[in-house]
Amino acid sequence: MYQSDGGKLKATHLERSAYLYIRQSTLRQVYENTESTKRQYALKKKAVALGWPEDSIITIDNDLGISGTSSELREGFKKLVAEVGMGHAGIVVSIEVSRLSRNSSDWLRLLEICAITDTLIMDEDGIYDVNDFNDRLLLGLKGTMSEAEIHFLHARMRGGMISKARRGELKRALPAGYVYNENDKIIMDPDIQVQNSINIFFKTFKRTGAAFATVREFNRLNLKIPKRFLNGFRKGELAWNSLTHSRSLRLLHNPIYAGIYYYGRAQIKKTVGGKKSVSMPIESWHAYMPDAHPGYITGDQFDENLKKLKENAYAYGEDRKKSPAREGPALLQGIIVCGKCGRRMSVRYQKNCSKLVPIYTCMRDCIENGTKVCQLVMGEKVDEEISKMLLEMLNPFAVKAAIKVQNELKKRKLEADSFYRQQVDRAKYDMELARKRYMLVDPQNRLVATELEAEWNQKIRELEKHKKEYEKKKEDDLKEVTKTTKSDIMQIANDFAKIWSSANVSFRDRKRMLRLLIEDVTVKNDKKIIANIRFKAGTCKTLFIERKLPICEVRKTRADIVRQVDELTENYIPSEIAAILNEKGYRAWNGNMFNLRTINRIIRTYGIKRRHKRLRGKGCLSLREKMLETNFSQAQIMQMRNEGKIVFYRVTDRDEYLYEPQNMNKYLAKI
Ligand SMILES: [Zn+2]
Repeated sequence: MYQSDGGKLKATHLERSAYLYIRQSTLRQVYENTESTKRQYALKKKAVALGWPEDSIITIDNDLGISGTSSELREGFKKLVAEVGMGHAGIVVSIEVSRLSRNSSDWLRLLEICAITDTLIMDEDGIYDVNDFNDRLLLGLKGTMSEAEIHFLHARMRGGMISKARRGELKRALPAGYVYNENDKIIMDPDIQVQNSINIFFKTFKRTGAAFATVREFNRLNLKIPKRFLNGFRKGELAWNSLTHSRSLRLLHNPIYAGIYYYGRAQIKKTVGGKKSVSMPIESWHAYMPDAHPGYITGDQFDENLKKLKENAYAYGEDRKKSPAREGPALLQGIIVCGKCGRRMSVRYQKNCSKLVPIYTCMRDCIENGTKVCQLVMGEKVDEEISKMLLEMLNPFAVKAAIKVQNELKKRKLEADSFYRQQVDRAKYDMELARKRYMLVDPQNRLVATELEAEWNQKIRELEKHKKEYEKKKEDDLKEVTKTTKSDIMQIANDFAKIWSSANVSFRDRKRMLRLLIEDVTVKNDKKIIANIRFKAGTCKTLFIERKLPICEVRKTRADIVRQVDELTENYIPSEIAAILNEKGYRAWNGNMFNLRTINRIIRTYGIKRRHKRLRGKGCLSLREKMLETNFSQAQIMQMRNEGKIVFYRVTDRDEYLYEPQNMNKYLAKI
């Protein structure tokens, strides 16, 4: 217990809570350095000794296993700062100030807030009042020392490692195909099978020229790739796995297979978003030693492989790589889930008459394991239906109806309210009755008195319970939508359609709006596209969307029209067929009227027997044959045709005719 607190501790501090902050920087410490954790929890007793009741000591231990060098990931520290800032804390307790923060700026910020809110700080050495100059100086020093300590520790360890790596002596985890010998030199794995499979891998890549194709080839031949366990109870053991796309990329990108010893290919850098592993250009690597050990491929081959991979990536298009910018029109990008396998689907665009049409694809398994594409969903129709649904749901009438329902619910709530109040009244009455009964009993009659007292207590508890229920109920009712919120909601409903269909709203903003309403959409291709929409509010909705026919199907002429063209060809020329069909109300695939050209195209495409062939089949004669048959000149026949004195047929829209044969006598009798 503390001998003296130097008069720093006041009643105002005791009125507030005490915050005990506990942290171990690494998970290993959490498991192994349990003594320190115990010491930290023991501080709680000290806070009790100073006068804080046990239940007003709040322990913050969210940060176990998280380093103190930055406040970024430490939720516990953030919470602590917030509580101190709101004046909830009378004292902050920690085993040493370094536990609070190893980062000076975080530490000083905490001190400043403690000073403003008059919060004390306590560690194993004593209590500090931040408003006291000497204490403040001491605390500042402690913070700086602790930051310096971690800096020196780090510098010494890192420096040692880097200089060892520059000499090529730093031992690191080796990938499959390499092991350390007894002199700590890197050698090829003595297991011939391992060597073979690595060699086959690089040869297959050379032959196929793509990581994806290599994976497919490995899977086709059922080849496996080795992996040595680097730690755990199976350390050193060999396992054979199927080759995956990510694994093959790792193998291809690793310079070690070209006999290069390297270190510092990726380095931790501080960025605005916190610390990040950044891949460095080769000049900035800490170590780069070609021909340091035997390689599976040559250095040139390695460079060539990387070049090849880069080219392949270009083939996919830079756009695809830059997809995080997310400017494309695919409405569901990022929130669409495959209904077949449950993976996230990616987006691809197809250009269709200067319009970008999204296609949602489920490719993850295909890329990683060289299997088939899971499913492709044409996005145009899906996007259209989803936006239609949103507009329907958020139109002013629908919202008005929703508010009406809410009012109805409120009315019912009021009815329920009287029920709860009556319950409280009844409990009060029961309690009163029990009290009276207890008061009236003869105190000598102990047995009865105890019984009645117990009953009375029971009734009091019941009354409390009902009262609490009633209070809670009231609170919930207060949370209800107020009138102003209601008018706001109506306003949003009015504006939504306008904003949604405005041409000035970028695809990106539209997608952001969508994400405020919809959690995710799961799609599955069936006879129709089944889309399950999960809303932010927790409700779900299923849409059945007609699949858009592929363009070859769309352009197809309907079978009944083809049949009619076939029948009409018997008696009519194409322009007449077009007129008949148009009159009957038939239209071409694009909604246009039929004309000579479209009918001719249908006849050609569907192999309909031409009129000429049909008439010749029936024995009709050409002009020359007719001339031979009748012994008239061409001019005479044409004149007879114009006068309608012979039976003839028009074959096409051009002046092509065929003539019905007839014997001369008949003809002469006619004239
Ligand atoms: Zn899938």
